[in-house]
Amino acid sequence: MEIKNKHILVVGLGKTGVGLVRFLARRGARVTVTDQADEGMLADSMEALSGFDVCFELGGHRLATFTSADLIVLSPGVPHTIEPLKHAREKKIPVTGEIELAYRFMKTPIIGITGTNGKSTTTLLVGRMLKDAGFDVFVGGNLGTPLIEYADKGDTADFAVVEISSFQLDTITTFRPRVAVLLNITADHLDRYDDFDAYVRSKGRIFENQSPDDVAVFNYLDMAIKALVPAIHSKIRPFNTGAEIEAGAWLTDDGIQFRLTDGREASLGCRNIPLIGVHNRENIAAAALAASAVGAPFSRIQETVHHFQGLSHRMSPVAVINGVQFIDDSKATNVDAVVRALSSFSTQVILIMGGREKGGGYSALKPLFPGRIKHLIVMGEAAESLKTELGTGTPVSHVSSMAEAVQTSLAQASAGDTVLLSPACASFDMYKSYAHRGEDFAMHVREMEMVNYG
Ligand code: ADP
Repeated sequence: MEIKNKHILVVGLGKTGVGLVRFLARRGARVTVTDQADEGMLADSMEALSGFDVCFELGGHRLATFTSADLIVLSPGVPHTIEPLKHAREKKIPVTGEIELAYRFMKTPIIGITGTNGKSTTTLLVGRMLKDAGFDVFVGGNLGTPLIEYADKGDTADFAVVEISSFQLDTITTFRPRVAVLLNITADHLDRYDDFDAYVRSKGRIFENQSPDDVAVFNYLDMAIKALVPAIHSKIRPFNTGAEIEAGAWLTDDGIQFRLTDGREASLGCRNIPLIGVHNRENIAAAALAASAVGAPFSRIQETVHHFQGLSHRMSPVAVINGVQFIDDSKATNVDAVVRALSSFSTQVILIMGGREKGGGYSALKPLFPGRIKHLIVMGEAAESLKTELGTGTPVSHVSSMAEAVQTSLAQASAGDTVLLSPACASFDMYKSYAHRGEDFAMHVREMEMVNYG
């Protein structure tokens, strides 16, 4: 890919956009960067680019800039379907994305991880497993440091463990991970894809350029992934299999069983580990298959799993007040994550849901309610839909703030119950991010804790 002296348009000026501009400008490109947000909102990014020779077109997109570029590079958050891109494509202007560009300039082998849920947890876990096994590892992508920054500055690690979203996969052409992991595919982002099949196809692209020497790790029981398997050319290492599979992993009562390529078996105990829930055992199985495929020994992997703490706002315990446990699962922004969270508790649950809707409805949760959900608390833009779809047979409170949600939850709970914030919705109607929402929840819980014990 020729960059020097080319007119290259970067779309999106977030953290990755800054990385893209720097990468391209350092290699002699004539860079323009455009974003719908204006200068006021992007002041930090502009500041980060001071000293770089770059042209800013902010507060909207200029069609002529799109149609006159030699190459357009998209930041991960930008849909590849926006109007000016259609015109650019009609004019045969090449359009690519950040991970494809980074990949073209890298020699480090990539372990790419995608799926609707569990990407961040699994990415960090694979990274930890490989570091604990003595490898020099870059961990980033859709979480933490963008891949383009690594390509720009480093590219010296033994492996790059990269979280990849479906939006990033939409713009690949040659991107080929040495190990590709597809954790699960359930309804999400239906506001950004034509339909569920389009979303499934997008996720499946992680395997598209793999060769027979590469490795594909995926969920054997996932119906949507099943349809993608015939097109995989690499060595398959599924999880959630039975013992009949040639090489793969399956969950047992207290751990994970692996069948290795030489026919041997290995087991990994999961009693008393910090990562809770069956879904996390799937993530561990996937991570162990990926890490062992590139040489991490099982004995080390086992140690890593025993120490790995997981990330904030994913099934994270906040406090126990009067015997009631409060859990922050603010990152559960889709229905399947909530299904998995609820399946992890044997206690009665007071469930706090709501936020900005993503399409697809909530009916998949209904069968989990009887005998489990003592009280449903709804808030935000989705409150009325949640009440209509999930409220029959379960007491519901409609609240207008997190403070009210936490107060109501404590009033409804008895010792031994769990209060779970697992919203099934995006946070942007009331918060900057899911983390902001989770912090607000935790703050109100801690205030309540002080009132009760203080
Ligand atoms: P992602 O990066 O894909 O959003 P995270 O690891 O941040 O994934 O987890 C997001 C949410 O999904 C959390 O609520 C978490 O508890 C839940 N989750 C994690 N792993 C899985 C899985 N394998 N299947 C379903 N839900 C999961």
